[in-house]
Amino acid sequence: MDILIKSNYDDTMNTIYEQLVAKIAKRWIAGVELDDAIMACKEANSIGLHGIINYLGEDILDRDIVKGAVKEYKSILDAIEEERLDCSISLKSTQIGLAIDEVECRNNLKEILEYASSYRKFIWIDMESSKYLEKVVNMYIEVRRSYENVGIALQSYIRDAPIYLAQLLDANAIIRLTKGAYREDASIVFKSKDMIDRNYIKLMEFLFKNSNDNFAIATHDPKIIELAENLSKMYRCKFEFQMLRGIRDDLKKILVGKGYAVGEYIPYGGKALEYSIRRIKEHPTNIFLLIRSIV
Ligand SMILES: Cc1cc2nc3c(=O)[nH]c(=O)nc-3n(C[C@H](O)[C@H](O)[C@H](O)COP(=O)(O)OP(=O)(O)OC[C@H]3O[C@@H](n4cnc5c(N)ncnc54)[C@H](O)[C@@H]3O)c2cc1C
Repeated sequence: MDILIKSNYDDTMNTIYEQLVAKIAKRWIAGVELDDAIMACKEANSIGLHGIINYLGEDILDRDIVKGAVKEYKSILDAIEEERLDCSISLKSTQIGLAIDEVECRNNLKEILEYASSYRKFIWIDMESSKYLEKVVNMYIEVRRSYENVGIALQSYIRDAPIYLAQLLDANAIIRLTKGAYREDASIVFKSKDMIDRNYIKLMEFLFKNSNDNFAIATHDPKIIELAENLSKMYRCKFEFQMLRGIRDDLKKILVGKGYAVGEYIPYGGKALEYSIRRIKEHPTNIFLLIRSIV
């Protein structure tokens, strides 16, 4: 009897928990299904934003789940083509096998890139925890030799980011500049916002001066965005701003109004909790959005 009561209690708690997560996530995540992401992308396109769909998942150690992710990315590409969306894709290397086997991951990435090429679609590789940094950069440099349609994220909290940037630009890389979102050791990353921002600005100036191809300024930071606007007037580069779904929607519209290209990163899938917690940690006032969504 006790067991039955406990099991009913657990089921109720799980349901409440799932509903809570769904509420937290609603602002930042398009939904659980691909159709939700497609709908969100249509909305983004309708206000002049380019969509960047991401299927949530990382650190995958199960080969069947990896295979499922590769299949899902192909389905996203089919749907983007079918719906004629202005949209690219962003994926994580450990979602397609990097945490299991480097060669397998590289093959999966090539399979997705080949598929995307047939639709003339672009794939971004997110940057994850620093333990994968070297491997992701090397894999990127190798695939970039054969594929035009691939870009890579670089995090300004990495102390050695300027070295990686130079190495990547030598390989003709298409860079998305971010600040970085993972918990890391102080020997590898800058911990103070001031240092992370300074490194970001240094890398961004280098990109405006030296990048001969497209790049992306991925931040919601108004000061950095203003600086990028000024740099774009001095150096005529092809670049876009990128921001996450549900964050600074007002600023996205302003930038589109000024004629800048703006991409919106649109995550979907079942792994909503980890993603939402990351957003709350970055900007604790987001917790108020959660409270507002509950009360
Ligand atoms: C398109 C895109 C792709 C990304 N890809 C990666 C990746 O591959 N790897 C990785 O490690 N990280 C990635 N990130 C996350 C990034 O590293 C940061 O964690 C995140 O963007 C927050 O940093 P920020 O640049 O906006 O600046 P912050 O210094 O965090 O914030 C500066 C200002 O921006 C506004 N702001 C920032 N965050 C929020 C928020 N959540 N809610 C409301 N306002 C906010 C506020 O005005 C704040 O003062 C990506 C971010 C974007 C936009």
